Amino acid sequence: MAWPDTVRRVSNDADALVEAFHAQTDRRPAGVWAAPGRVNLIGEHTDYNDGYVMPFALAQRVLIAAAPRQDGSWSVTSLNNHSTETFESADLQPGMTGWQAYVAGVVWALEEAGHRLGGADLVLSSDVPVGAGLSSSAALECAVLTALADLNDLDIAGLERAKLARRSENAFVGAPTGLMDQAASTLCTAGNALFFDCRTTEAEQVRFDTSSAGLEILVLDTKTPHALVDSEYAARRASCEEAARLLGVPALRDVSDVDTALQQLPDPVIQRRVRHVVTENARVLEAVSVLRAGRIADLAPLLDASHASMRDDFEITVPPVDLAVEVARGSGALGARMTGGGFGGCIIALVPAGEAERIGREIAKSFATAGYGPPVHFTAVPSAGAQRLQ
Ligand code: ADP
Ligand code: MG
Repeated sequence: MAWPDTVRRVSNDADALVEAFHAQTDRRPAGVWAAPGRVNLIGEHTDYNDGYVMPFALAQRVLIAAAPRQDGSWSVTSLNNHSTETFESADLQPGMTGWQAYVAGVVWALEEAGHRLGGADLVLSSDVPVGAGLSSSAALECAVLTALADLNDLDIAGLERAKLARRSENAFVGAPTGLMDQAASTLCTAGNALFFDCRTTEAEQVRFDTSSAGLEILVLDTKTPHALVDSEYAARRASCEEAARLLGVPALRDVSDVDTALQQLPDPVIQRRVRHVVTENARVLEAVSVLRAGRIADLAPLLDASHASMRDDFEITVPPVDLAVEVARGSGALGARMTGGGFGGCIIALVPAGEAERIGREIAKSFATAGYGPPVHFTAVPSAGAQRLQ
């Protein structure tokens, strides 16, 4: 796929975007808005089990310059794929295809919720890697939603915004995702991770100041094509639902004692799936305690255990991902794990400050030796959620 690379070359600068807006529409935008991608620190495949997750927002984000339009239609330009699309109220039908569905879906979800919207010109650019599990889609939705809410003077609370953005992705685009991505892109604050309860939708900011601990977070995109992701995701979800039914609980979040639960389950595969979900939920709670106490280095064994659980019990890792985690640890990372739904995508590693670059290069070397394509890495800084910039 060509344009995930293109995405990285586009400037992430608000002033440059204002210029691009001017070139496109011959007028100044009414404002510039931003919403970030995210990485999940810990809590994988816990969301649809009514459990806990702990993402933080990335510095990589979608920027949108926007201004009202008088003819009631919407025109949106992505500088990433050099494409302009226009749609009107009558075109807002769930199932719309193409990248513009992520934008139209937000208009649709807002209107469906009873908000009245005027038309708008939107020009956007993004440096969130696309299709890497860092949620470029939620960043796009949340940026559009924030811009349209302001342009139309809509008073919508943060969590409600996240829910509307999720609804647009589920019901309009047709991607069955949980609430984590949009909650992270909307609710995260700089310097914090977001402890999010997927059942109650309670959210807590947890201080995550890696630099004060002499540490940093390396994110490495293995660039592995995740071919199996849809079917395997559905299979894992079905196993979890089946297990909850067999155990007589509303969701696996409600399993308090893992050993007792395992004894009640006859099938070894289902046992492993349950063990991952229950122990992963416990690891999120442990990670929250560790961060609240400012003991950031103590996250490392939790990251390692999370990876082992995804590899051995949930069986959602693939060889390049396992290699990246192994080499990260062997090159000085304190702990590392795959992040995201699995079968490819990114790893995160907790590394000594200043070491991310070197460790990223070590992993790239091991990929070349193994015959895998080159991975891409960066240092992740816990950043702000969706906001108006100008
Ligand atoms: P992820 O959210 O993990 O990056 P998804 O498959 O959920 O991957 O979403 C990626 C899709 O979102 C892209 O294929 C494209 O349709 C849309 N998208 C994301 N960012 C942009 C952008 N800057 N411009 C246009 N479309 C985008
Ligand atoms: Mg997505």
